[in-house]
Amino acid sequence: MKVLVAIKRVIDYHTKIRVKADGSGVETRNVKMAMNPFDEIALEAAIRLKEAGQASEVIVVSCGTSECQETLRAGLAMGADRAILIETSEELQPLAVAKLLNAVVNKESPQLVFLGKQAIDDDANQTGQMLAGLLNWAQGTFASNIIINNDKIEVEREVDGGLEKVSLKLPAIVTADLRLNEPRFPSLPNIMKAKQKPLEVISASSLNIDIKPRLTVLKIESPPIRKQGVKVNTINELFNKLHVTEKVL
Ligand code: AMP
Repeated sequence: MKVLVAIKRVIDYHTKIRVKADGSGVETRNVKMAMNPFDEIALEAAIRLKEAGQASEVIVVSCGTSECQETLRAGLAMGADRAILIETSEELQPLAVAKLLNAVVNKESPQLVFLGKQAIDDDANQTGQMLAGLLNWAQGTFASNIIINNDKIEVEREVDGGLEKVSLKLPAIVTADLRLNEPRFPSLPNIMKAKQKPLEVISASSLNIDIKPRLTVLKIESPPIRKQGVKVNTINELFNKLHVTEKVL
C-alpha cells in the first residue's frame, strides 16, 4: 500500500510572529521555517505503517516555493522514501492545494493520504476535507488512533465531548490530530541518507490547474496587548476583587 503525506512549510512554532507594518500579512523573511507540526504527526503515522509492514512506500508532497525542498528533505530524513514538490511562487489557499494534491493522487494512486488536521499558519482546517471531496473518497479527520483492517482503516476521531470511531473503506483521507503519536527526531545518519533520496519537482503551471486565490485577506493585526495582572494574597481579596470591584462574579 502506497501512502502519500502532504507536508506544509510554515513558520516554526517556536518563533514569535511579527505582523507586517502595513497589515498585509506576517513577516516571513529571515524567519525560521519548519514542517507544520500536525504534518510531522501525519508523517510519523505513515512511517509507522511502513515499519509495521502495512505500507510499501511513503511519499511526501509539498506545494509551494523551491524552499519547500528543505521541508521535504526533513520528511525524507524522518523516513519517507521519496518526495514530490509541486512548485509555484503563487499564493496557495486550501482549495488550490487540494486541487494540486488531487493531481498527485491521480498520478501516484496511493491507497491512503495523510494530512495534518490544520496548518498552523492559516488555521484553515480545510485541505483534507476538500481533497476528500474532489476525490470522492472517505475521510477520517482529527485522527487520534488508526488501525488498518484489510481494505479498511479504522479511525478514532477527536470530536467535541469525546472520541468517535469510524471505519473507512480504502482509499481514504486521514487528517492527524495532536494525540495520534509523538513524531521522531531524525538521526544524523538518516539526515545524511535523505540527501540521496529522490525528490521530484513538478511545476504547478504544467498541471493546468486553476490555483487562483478565492478570498482576499483584508487586514492582519496583532492581538491587543494584554493588561498586566495583579497578585492577591488571600482568597477573600480575590473574591472581593472579582465580585465587588470588577463585578465579574
Ligand atoms: P489547512 O487546510 O490549510 O489548515 O491545512 C491542512 C493540511 O493540508 C496541512 O496540515 C497539510 O497536511 C496540508 N497542506 C496545506 N497546505 C499545504 C501545502 N502548501 N503543501 C502541502 N500540504 C499542505
